[in-house]
Amino acid sequence: MSNVHHLINGQAVHAGRMADVFNPSTGQVIRQVGLASIETVREAIDAAQAAFPAWRNTPPAKRAQVLFRFKQLLEANEANIAQLISEEHGKTLEDATGELKRGIENIEYACAAPEILKGEFSRNAGPSIDAWSDFQPIGVVAGITPFNFPAMVPLWMYPLAIACGNTFILKPSERDPSSTLLIAQLFHDAGLPKGVLNVVHGDKTAVDALIEAPEVKALSFVGSTPIAEYIYTEGTRRGKRVQALGGAKNHAVVMPDADLDNTVNALMGAAYGSCGERCMAISVAVCVGDQVADALIAKLTPQIKALKIGAGTERGLDMGPLVTRAHMDKVIGYVNAGIEAGASLLVDGRDFKVPGHEEGFFIGGCLFDHVTTEQTIYKEEIFGPVLCIVRVDSLEEAMRLINDHEYGNGTCIFTRDGEAVRLFCYVIEVGMVGVNVALPVPVAYHSFGGWKRSLFGDLHAYGPDGVRFYTKRKAITQRWPKRASHEASQFAFPSL
Ligand code: NAD
Repeated sequence: MSNVHHLINGQAVHAGRMADVFNPSTGQVIRQVGLASIETVREAIDAAQAAFPAWRNTPPAKRAQVLFRFKQLLEANEANIAQLISEEHGKTLEDATGELKRGIENIEYACAAPEILKGEFSRNAGPSIDAWSDFQPIGVVAGITPFNFPAMVPLWMYPLAIACGNTFILKPSERDPSSTLLIAQLFHDAGLPKGVLNVVHGDKTAVDALIEAPEVKALSFVGSTPIAEYIYTEGTRRGKRVQALGGAKNHAVVMPDADLDNTVNALMGAAYGSCGERCMAISVAVCVGDQVADALIAKLTPQIKALKIGAGTERGLDMGPLVTRAHMDKVIGYVNAGIEAGASLLVDGRDFKVPGHEEGFFIGGCLFDHVTTEQTIYKEEIFGPVLCIVRVDSLEEAMRLINDHEYGNGTCIFTRDGEAVRLFCYVIEVGMVGVNVALPVPVAYHSFGGWKRSLFGDLHAYGPDGVRFYTKRKAITQRWPKRASHEASQFAFPSL
């Protein structure tokens, strides 16, 4: 059992109070992770601060070369990384590999650093005047990430921040820190200079130290909404640039003309994949009309009962366990609350056991029908394998319901009706929309982010918004007057 250390200035640092890291499939402690003190965070800030001048001055093409090698090393180590993700998070190996691949796409985007940092130029903006905008790094940036994508979400942040010339401190989730650390070590093996990327593990103490440090100029956060709001409020209060992505409740609208078999296949993956622990998981199916609701339930029910559930590290499964015992108890609590509130539990996964893994944090897939908007299972993010069916009479009613929800991360519509799709895409108040696509996670060259209480801040994560977030625009106006020409003072505001 090797403990998980911090990575500061390219060195392993063993320090801090220790916390247990579990294998959720067995329920056993498999290693421990150090929780950084304020002093350890300070060491990381000093290292990032010291590395900034040289990294800022490193040509973007040179930075990109390190990123190219990093990508190759991640591909070469794909199996090890997926194993670590699966062991500590519980998701299946195939799912873990998928998240790593999506993370690598963000490195590929960041490899275009020379292109994305070219700036904007206007010749003859005025007489003998040229104007340009330069995109400069902001300095030391910190990223705070959740447990559910220990590889992908950090890769949304630091490859691009570092490609833009910043230095970075990552505070990953303390619940599954090992794959995140291995990936950061591989970046160093690819030739990243010391101090450019630092990893401090920890809890609120470490996060607060990052928020309070004046040297940290920007914070990227992904996690639950209460913490996202806290980070945004405290960070912006101190004059930092903050993007804080929060929780979700994602609805899938199923229209009467939907291709039902494809819809069911898509919903199974989106509701139960990764045990529902995805911020883009579909947790509500809004059926337009009773006929489509009944037909959908008839097709979903046997598939939910047949889900292949087991230790994530075994091959060929659909679903692993939940991340911790506390989270499993919370999800079961939601299911109990749904029954008490009068929703019909059609598939009950509460007493699910995997033979040989009786201490694992397993729960089977659950399906509720006749869910109403006042019930907590509708209002709150469950983050477990629980799908709620809400019945409505029209597309307008479905859209009203989605727009009234406090979250606005992802949504999708299943239909063959182009007119309905056009209206839905325009009217719906959600940041990411799928049309016959249940998990519309944008590719790396678009940007990721929700609306309403799913994102605090102005810019989405990665892609073009990520470049804007991790750079400061400087607008330069220059004149090179002709020799021996003299211009009179001009007291009116300059204009053409
Ligand atoms: P979390 O909010 O508990 O933790 C996220 C990070 O914040 C972790 O690094 C954690 O150590 C830190 N943290 C926890 N409590 C803190 C506190 N009191 N003060 C300061 N820092 C604190 O989230 P989680 O359980 O790790 O992840 C699941 C949540 O993340 C879900 O709500 C999910 O929807 C959300 N999520 C959102 C997105 C998105 O893009 N919108 C993506 C992935 C996950």
